[in-house]
Amino acid sequence: ISFLSQIPYAQPDPIFELTAEYNRDGSTKKVNLGQGAYRDENGMPWVLKSVIQAKRAIEGSGHEYLPILGLEDFRKGCTKLLFGEESPIVLENRVGSSQSISGTGSLHLVAIFLANYYSTTHKVFIPDPTWNNHRAIFEGAGFDVQLYSYFDSHHMALYFERLQEDLLRCPEGSIVVLHACAHNPTGIDPSFEQWKKIGKIVKDKHLFPIFDAAYLGFNSGSIDTDCWAIRYFFHDLNLTGAVCMSFSKNMGLYGERVGCVQIITNTFDEAKNVESILSKLQRSEVSNPPAYGARLATAIFSSKEYMQQWKIDLRTMSCRINTMRKLLVDNLRKHNAPGSWVHVIDQNGMFGFLGLTETEVKDLRLDHHIYMAANSRISIAGLNEANVEYVAQCITSVVS
Ligand code: PLP
Repeated sequence: ISFLSQIPYAQPDPIFELTAEYNRDGSTKKVNLGQGAYRDENGMPWVLKSVIQAKRAIEGSGHEYLPILGLEDFRKGCTKLLFGEESPIVLENRVGSSQSISGTGSLHLVAIFLANYYSTTHKVFIPDPTWNNHRAIFEGAGFDVQLYSYFDSHHMALYFERLQEDLLRCPEGSIVVLHACAHNPTGIDPSFEQWKKIGKIVKDKHLFPIFDAAYLGFNSGSIDTDCWAIRYFFHDLNLTGAVCMSFSKNMGLYGERVGCVQIITNTFDEAKNVESILSKLQRSEVSNPPAYGARLATAIFSSKEYMQQWKIDLRTMSCRINTMRKLLVDNLRKHNAPGSWVHVIDQNGMFGFLGLTETEVKDLRLDHHIYMAANSRISIAGLNEANVEYVAQCITSVVS
């Protein structure tokens, strides 16, 4: 008998499975609040205006291979986006970078880089809770993955005391994964003052920070605001570490797989060596990254006009999400749903973390055709004027 007969069945990814279940649901009332993908006011996927402009600009660019590290102008554009043109990090060329298969591929590339050149004897600390894939990516690369406290479910708030205690308890030199902004799934980010305290612990304990930056600009509508923690760590504290960028959400390029790894080093020589290793690792992983989406992003970075439009697009998306957040809470209150729901208004980014039980989530799906992650995280962008009251009414009925 072949070893294939011994292969176990792996459960499908819950979020992708939820989307498939939603697609099979024939009800006209159905609402998809599962997957984190932006939807416009009519519930439709949205192609950013800046992306439409960029598409025209890159017409006829052909289908040749990109270099192993991807488009150089894209990588440099990403560094400038993170740190600004005048940054010493940019001027001194202290970043080793590689284009990646979006945010996921970016985290994976950093994980195998660290596994090969920093050693898997270092533990990786991820927030509790976090995006499901963090554990899978770092365990897959051979690391022992541990949690640090993040969320106080009793107060629906950041558990900052515990977070600090846990980071202080990490062995020196551990790797710590941080969400740059718009923490997934809780929507709760540290304040600037809290980031300063986290930065001090990272520095004192020689932790290696990895910023997962999947929502830059999408969160507040401003790249500068959303880069605050990244800039504080690498400019103000002069730390070394990694940033894993994704353009899935902030450019709406989900399926094009556009991302970038940035490893911030102390010197130009370090950056050059790091980059050579990223190139070596990338070659045997994907050979070279996909061209189309990176060309679109580069066209946006290199045109003042498109860049201006992108900023407007970011505000369009973040403002609509904020409006829906408030409208959901207004409707919950209108229908006398027990509780203040103020936590939903206070949360940031693409998601709302409702605080429902698994049974309530299941009832919403089976009885009302409303789909959300089992932990009651909702993608706020799935709400619109036409469905928000229905959703609020149904939530009220399952929690009352
Ligand atoms: N990191 C976080 C926290 C996310 O929520 C996501 C997507 O949902 C990603 C990374 C990566 O997404 P992608 O691989 O589509 O860029």
